[in-house]
Amino acid sequence: MLRSLFLAAAGSARLERLVESAPVTKGVVRRFVAGGDAGEALRACRELADDGLAVSLDLLGEDTTTAEQAQATRDEYVALLARLHEAGLTPAAEVSVKLSALGQRIDEKMAYEHARAVCAAAAEAGTTVTLDAEDHTTTDATLETLVELRRDFPSTGAVLQAYLRRTEADCRELATAGSRVRLCKGAYAEPESVAFQSSLDVDKSYVRCLNILMSGAGYPMVATHDPRLIAIAEDRARWFDRSAGEFEFQLLYGVRPEEQARLAARGDTVRVYLPYGNQWYGYLMRRLAERPANVAFFARAVSSR
Ligand code: FAD
Repeated sequence: MLRSLFLAAAGSARLERLVESAPVTKGVVRRFVAGGDAGEALRACRELADDGLAVSLDLLGEDTTTAEQAQATRDEYVALLARLHEAGLTPAAEVSVKLSALGQRIDEKMAYEHARAVCAAAAEAGTTVTLDAEDHTTTDATLETLVELRRDFPSTGAVLQAYLRRTEADCRELATAGSRVRLCKGAYAEPESVAFQSSLDVDKSYVRCLNILMSGAGYPMVATHDPRLIAIAEDRARWFDRSAGEFEFQLLYGVRPEEQARLAARGDTVRVYLPYGNQWYGYLMRRLAERPANVAFFARAVSSR
């Protein structure tokens, strides 16, 4: 119920204005978002790197409605990658990109060209790109773009969402040599026709997908905070003889930092997804939808003002 409310709120421009103008919001945002600009993101990235954590930086923004905005997003990524390289933070830091932020809803070809430019800048900086997964209406287009990008930039990563009924088949398709696949549960409000609705069904699908990826030839990126799924992933890695550099865990900035440290201390590769920028509203609403405790945190911050 709460989940649906927050996911609906994620798409409301009116609520967005209201939440953005509330003075309390700043503190809450700071927990999940590294900062408003690349400088702050780089500082957070350095701190994580000093703790032995890899990073995927995400410039927040999914409401791109003009070609100018799409171009500005591309340019920001290109500049960010150069700064990461200069700061010696690559290859441990890569970037995550939403094709919608590069204009996928305006013109798919343009978004593809921008994504190519970002991949080229990443290659130049000695690192790579992962294409975030968005709502199910974009899955085909995003996976087609991935195939095109991988021709010249084979390390470009995909994201698959276990809540989608199609994902087991997509895992089979992508569990090939050199293929980097992030497996997450999925963060959007999706209809029953395309997505499992109960958390049990989503978890079962996650495990089936994990089995395919861990037993395949690609590089699985296990993106979850769920202790049961993390334990199952550890078990499957042992079962399929994968050592620490042959898969990785991924967690979101600000979520279960003690677990991030525990996994890294065991010698596992752990990557923190680090969002930054001013367009944090949709991202924050999805985090609140995921976990009642996050809502309580938000409510406490509101009531303490
Ligand atoms: P949940 O079902 O949210 O949580 C399961 C359990 O984990 C909880 O019951 C609790 O025990 C534990 N837990 C969760 N949060 C906390 C916490 N704050 N403190 C303590 N325990 C906690 N979604 C997309 O749709 N597209 C993407 O491209 C995408 N990229 C992602 C990248 C990364 C690195 C990660 C981690 C997630 C990404 N997601 C993405 C979001 C993802 O789909 C889920 O919405 C999100 O990760 C929550 O699911 P979960 O697996 O953590 O499990």
